[in-house]
Formats: sequence, structure tokens, C-alpha cells
Amino acid sequence: MALRFSPAPRVVGDWRLELAQSLTTFEDLERVIPFSPREREKVREVCRLFPPLVTPFLLSLMDPAHSMDPVRLQVVPSPVELEGPGMEDPLGEEDHSPFPGAVHRYENRLLVVTTNRCALHCRYCFRKRNWKRPPFHFTSWRILESYLKAHPQVEDLLISGGDPLLLPEEGLERLLSLARSSDNIKVVRIGTRVPVVLPSRVDKGLLDLLETHAPLWICLHVNHPRELTEEMYQAVVALSRAGCALVSQTVLLKGVNDSPDTLALLFTHLLSMGVKPYYLFQCDPAPGTAHFRVDMEEGRRIMTSLWGRVSGLAYPHYAMDLPGGGGKVLL
Ligand code: SF4
Repeated sequence: MALRFSPAPRVVGDWRLELAQSLTTFEDLERVIPFSPREREKVREVCRLFPPLVTPFLLSLMDPAHSMDPVRLQVVPSPVELEGPGMEDPLGEEDHSPFPGAVHRYENRLLVVTTNRCALHCRYCFRKRNWKRPPFHFTSWRILESYLKAHPQVEDLLISGGDPLLLPEEGLERLLSLARSSDNIKVVRIGTRVPVVLPSRVDKGLLDLLETHAPLWICLHVNHPRELTEEMYQAVVALSRAGCALVSQTVLLKGVNDSPDTLALLFTHLLSMGVKPYYLFQCDPAPGTAHFRVDMEEGRRIMTSLWGRVSGLAYPHYAMDLPGGGGKVLL
């Protein structure tokens, strides 16, 4: 599957090593991104507020010298992040949290925010408030177990983060075992960007673990056709063979994917890989993200133009999360 523009050789090896080689400071970025003298101080300030995280793999997917490169736009801090209002917790998750790490908004579904660790820092992230917190991993096993017993209406456990596929394997194993031993949990979903941006993480140890607890739903976060690499494809095939059903979610981002051509290519190729495009989300109003937001009418126009152009199976729901915790609505 040759979809990828490749300006640099990719570094694919041990995933821990790849992660350890990430660019995490302004000084790291400056070595590879040619910021203009006018940008430098502002980008340095943005890095202080919301630190960058760019793996060597991601770097190989972008043209670092091109400020409008769709991968660069998603991960490299920009001076415009200092502009415009924003909400620390746009989805009101803290107000719907019955205990640390859990969000219970919909009666029959429970979200577990398992870690604040990610394989990249997406500049538009609605949980960027967690980036500067000390690293945390979910460990409230007993509380979760009691909560599920006390709430038999919860049938669906959504494991998210950060990125749950960066949890220590013992932690992920414990969480999945707990879900499987619960009398009420029927569906287990894992939301992740790892197979897209750090595909080497989808290794035998992880696949064996997931297969033990299959069937599982994996929701891949993917935004642009450039992210559809051969390595990602291999990871998707392996996950599928391990008993995972795959769907995708995409954030509609100005300058990145706000065109029918880009989205048609993305959704069609996802479907050809065996990944059902599930949601196209309006970008949430987190701090420093105003420049990414596409007008809702424009979003609707894009979706209308995709109807009939892509297979019905490749057509996602266009939706947004109501600010303050009102839940998802279709647009
Ligand atoms: S992978 Fe998800 S949680 Fe992590 S930075 Fe990106 S959007 Fe945020």
C-alpha cells in the first residue's frame, strides 16, 4: 500500500527506544524545524505551556521545512497556540468523574483514562491539561471493580488515555482481566493512536495479551492519508488477526484534512485496510486550538460532498462533544 510521502528514512526499531528518542523540548525541535526569527520566542513559550512530543517515526512522515505540512501542523507547536480562548476541560470530564481515572457520562458506558502518557502530543488535544501532570497510570483496581458491581447498567468499558497501549503490559492485562471477569461488561473498547504513530509497539507481547481477551474493539485515531503507512497497515492486520475489530476516529482540522479529497482518500483507504471509519469529530475548544477549528457549516458541506462519493461503509458520523459535558451530538 503506497500512500505515503516519505521525505526521510523511517526509524523503526524497539518502540521504547523510539519513544526515548522523541523530540520533547524547543531545543530538540529547533535542530530539525527551521523556525523563523519571529516565531522562535513564541514557539519557545508554547513549548513551556504545552510541551511537544514528536517521535522519530512521526518526524519521518513530515516535511519539517514546510510549515503547512499536514503532519507537522498536528504535532509541532505554533505561535498561534498563544491566541484565542480555550477551556482546560472542554468536555467537563472532571465533573463526571466518580473516582480518579474514570468518567461516567453515559449510563451504560464507563470511560477509564488509564494514563497521561502518549506517543505524541497532538496540538489540538482536548486532554492536553494532563501533559504537564506527573506521569500516572491507572491503578484503582479495587475501586473500579466495586464501581462496576454497584453499577450493573455499565455494559461497555472504554479504555483510553493518553494512550492505553503505552501502559505497562501488567497494567493493561489487569484492566482487561477485570473487564472480562465483570458480570455486566459486554463490550471492551480501546482508543489509541499508537498503531498509527508508533506501530513498532504492536509487538508479539501486546498481540498475545490482546488475543487472550478478544474480541476487543480498537478505535484508531488517524487524521490524514499520510499517516497510513506500510507499518501501520501491518499493525492493523496483526491486530485484526489477534481478534480485534477496528474502527477509526478522525478530528476535522483546518489546514490538515478539511477537504473532501483528503477525507475521501483517508476513509477509503482505511476501509481497504479493514478499518471502518466511525467518527469525524469537530475539534474541541481546548486552549490554543482555535486555529484548527473548521466552521460547522463547512464541515457539513464536506460531509455532504462525501455522500455518494465514498462507499457507505467508509462514511463516518460527523459529531461533536458538547462543551461542558453535554455529550456527543451528530452534526
Ligand atoms: S493521542 Fe489522543 S490523548 Fe494523546 S495527545 Fe493525541 S489526542 Fe491527546
